[in-house]
Amino acid sequence: MNSIEFRRELHRHPELSFEEHRTQRFILDALRAEGIECREIASTGVLAKIEGDRGNLSRAVVLRADIDALPIEEQNDVEYRSENRGVMHACGHDMHAAVLFGVVKTFAHNRDFEGTLFAIFQPGEELNPGGAIKVLEENPFEGYDVAAVIGEHTDSRLEVGEIGICPGMFMASNDELRYWVRGRGGHAARRTEIDDSVTAMAEMVIRTTAMNTPSCVLSIGRVIAEGATNVIPPVVSAEGTMRTFDREERVRIHTLLRAAAREVESKYGVTVEVDINHGYPCVVNDVMLSYEAMIVATDEGVTVKELQPMTAAEDFGYYTERYPSLFYRLGVGKAAGGSHTATFLPDEGAIAVGERVMRRLALHILNK
Ligand SMILES: [Zn+2]
Ligand SMILES: [Zn+2]
Repeated sequence: MNSIEFRRELHRHPELSFEEHRTQRFILDALRAEGIECREIASTGVLAKIEGDRGNLSRAVVLRADIDALPIEEQNDVEYRSENRGVMHACGHDMHAAVLFGVVKTFAHNRDFEGTLFAIFQPGEELNPGGAIKVLEENPFEGYDVAAVIGEHTDSRLEVGEIGICPGMFMASNDELRYWVRGRGGHAARRTEIDDSVTAMAEMVIRTTAMNTPSCVLSIGRVIAEGATNVIPPVVSAEGTMRTFDREERVRIHTLLRAAAREVESKYGVTVEVDINHGYPCVVNDVMLSYEAMIVATDEGVTVKELQPMTAAEDFGYYTERYPSLFYRLGVGKAAGGSHTATFLPDEGAIAVGERVMRRLALHILNK
């Protein structure tokens, strides 16, 4: 099976996050048909392993693709259109998996390399807490010295034949913020008998957004105080988002938010509950790996664009926390349109480009 056939099969049968049962079966069968050792991982994912003919087998490179689809009804009129109603590969994960399949196939058929190559077909990227953390919880690389984890994402801002790399901080962490202020509600005119939950929340909101910096975004998008002109409600709630590119700053801001809540409590005599729902951590690219990838890709005739950090989040961040890692963008052409839409249609010409870059980079690191 070639990579395009592989991609179209996935595209026809998309499955939602952590429901990738058919996808998993298909990938296992396709890999085994090529004589590649593989097994299930993270419930609906696949881990493949290829050992080189020389060198120290405990030195490893890990390649990662995600495999889940989105709850979108496809509008594209293509022969391989989604056959699962209301589900679509609208984020290009079918493309990522096809590139990875093509790469592991060439490694399996020519084992003239040093060390061990792993390939993760990872489930559940689109759904918190994400499949990456489930993969890592199983410790699949225990006993290996992981030299690099490499992943990619399709990008319609780039043309086919282009990739985008951002050395260092690349994609933001994404946390959800929820606040509840509770106090004695009551008649708005009898201020000695109530706790001013509304003003207390207003102060919480202002203290939160005052922490905004160019590298850390805090926004509160929803505040609910169901009182009236003359009624102070006993509960006021708020919700917002926090995104940052720096691990230490993320922890520091979490601490500051909780400290602000304590201060508002003592000032207004209310209780302030702060719930921070941790999303994906930042994607931080290894700087050396980034520049090596730029050289390797250029050598392959691929145009490399240096990218600015993005405020979107990716569960690839979990790998970057643990191992030297690189996540780059693969151009699929502006005509592809926006991802997460019903008409997203990446140019399949990108698959061959993605394979060339990933194969050469993996080989370069393994043989170093
Ligand atoms: Zn997506
Ligand atoms: Zn995606």
